[in-house]
Amino acid sequence: MSNLKEIKRAIQYHRQQLGFERGRDSIRLARYYELAIDALEKLIPKKPTVIISEKDTMVGRAKFCKGTKLYDCQCGSFIGYLDAYCRRCGQKIDWEAE
Ligand SMILES: [Zn+2]
Repeated sequence: MSNLKEIKRAIQYHRQQLGFERGRDSIRLARYYELAIDALEKLIPKKPTVIISEKDTMVGRAKFCKGTKLYDCQCGSFIGYLDAYCRRCGQKIDWEAE
């Protein structure tokens, strides 16, 4: 598994290539670089948003009572506590305490 530094360098490389392909008006290749950048950015862990449910909430088949702490991904999907990745969009989740 690549480390964070390598991932960030790869993103930087792909952004340069993206600019290059856009400059050449190569829409298809630019789109491939955009897809690669999106996929690589999901490997950089992001903190979930903490939500205190204001009412009883169903997540799949699980019921969370009012006042329960829920975790939301940037894509808007709920995340199970300590899930390594969002099940909807694949974003890696950062559970490190601040
Ligand atoms: Zn997500």
